[in-house]
Amino acid sequence: MTENPGVLKWSARLTSVALLAGCVVSNDPPPAEPSAAGGIARNVILFIGDGMGVSTVTAARIFDGQSLGMTGEEHELIFETFPHVALVKTYNTNQQVPDSAGTATAMMTGRKTRAGVINIGPEVRRQDCQESLDQELTPLGVIAKERGKSVGVVTTTRLTHATPASVFAHSPERDWESDQYLPESDRAQGCLDIAYQLTRFDVGGGLDVVLGGGRAEFYGGEFDGNRVGGQDDLIREWLDAGSNRTYITTRDELARLRAAQQPGIRPAQQPEELPEPRSAQPSRQQVLGTFSRSHMTYVAERPPDTTEPTLAEMTSAAIDLLADDEDGYFLMVEGGRIDHGHHDGKPGYALLETQAFARAVEAALEQVDLEETLVLVTADHSHVFTIAGYPVRGNPILGLVVENDVTGEPSPEAAVDATGTPYTTLGYANGPGAVADQPRPAPETGTGAVYQSHIPVVSHRIDGSLDYSETHGGEDVALYGIGVGSDQVGGVIEQNLIFDIMIQAFGWDDGD
Ligand SMILES: [Zn+2]
Repeated sequence: MTENPGVLKWSARLTSVALLAGCVVSNDPPPAEPSAAGGIARNVILFIGDGMGVSTVTAARIFDGQSLGMTGEEHELIFETFPHVALVKTYNTNQQVPDSAGTATAMMTGRKTRAGVINIGPEVRRQDCQESLDQELTPLGVIAKERGKSVGVVTTTRLTHATPASVFAHSPERDWESDQYLPESDRAQGCLDIAYQLTRFDVGGGLDVVLGGGRAEFYGGEFDGNRVGGQDDLIREWLDAGSNRTYITTRDELARLRAAQQPGIRPAQQPEELPEPRSAQPSRQQVLGTFSRSHMTYVAERPPDTTEPTLAEMTSAAIDLLADDEDGYFLMVEGGRIDHGHHDGKPGYALLETQAFARAVEAALEQVDLEETLVLVTADHSHVFTIAGYPVRGNPILGLVVENDVTGEPSPEAAVDATGTPYTTLGYANGPGAVADQPRPAPETGTGAVYQSHIPVVSHRIDGSLDYSETHGGEDVALYGIGVGSDQVGGVIEQNLIFDIMIQAFGWDDGD
């Protein structure tokens, strides 16, 4: 990729944001807007922070700022400097507080639908295979391939999880990730599991870059996988279907692939193992990477010698590969485990995931030309996550509330509630941190702690086990936009309009 004015402009903005580190208040002008903000985009990148509600963005901003030695409140995550922002109504057609399958369908197809279904119309009952077969909605991943674009999917969850699946699959049940939970009767009717759909996706020659977790959904038991129906090695079948296909499983392999893509960059180790240059390939390279058996490891739990790439590394590699297509690309990048950290009642986990998500956005902005690319950042839904009490300025965001005294100076000790017990700034309306039938103890704090909540909710997973997870929240989420077509981002909008914004940016709203 060549240097261009859009990239340079954004780099200058990045520097000014970095310089804010010592300032209390930003007096910076808004970021320079590319002149082509209303034109046609060659590329669209949609970043979805799964469960990244507004309170999560605020807490992550403080968390990130404090990790840089600041008080934190004045800090900005990179996407908070985008020139266009909207609020997004996330409800599903049958649910006030949504799930990720219904919300991802809204963004990928332009139609809201029921919770739990992927790219299936709202009339279809969840898990009804027969009804679903003639009510399939066409996702942007298919539309983009049909129109000659390359398509990429990057996530920290299993590649078959609801949000990534919405780019390429159809299913009346989000949990049909492999054939493990897909009933034989539904399979006989023609419903296919999501891993199978991913590897057999053949529109425009197949998906171009697919990076994430969830290896077990592609293999049968003899290969330590979850599949039960006799298709024991979908990865081998995917490789055999094209000589231009590469399968990788480690961070080093991803780095080597990227180095081969960019002649000027070489990995630190094992340069002798570089693959042949891409020009030797008969057609554009397609890459499938599964870096973990299930979801990728939480940032909070990764060992220093992890073999899993970061979300930023996967995003950068995907853009390098996709940018090879002169016709442009559509890329969906999900920070998928923000949601899981919250479900576990662990804000420290969720905030580390949000920080990694912001780094991925930053990496993308360093690579793309905003004169020809639309970059959107949003969440699919919120969580019941609050920032509460009256903590002093700069109070550690994961800590106990310390209030000011009557003079406005910090008190020497943590504040206590009506029972004399200290409390944390961060907390949840429900989830595993709820205390039932006993006095509330002094709370634990820190990255790995389960934070306190009110209601001990419980539900059933598809395997029948009990799930005490904290729940999603129903308030609006934010949408941030920069680049070509981002001037359409504004106001309070229905979530399915995000699809319209992307289609319009590509210049495909002409009815053909
Ligand atoms: Zn969730």
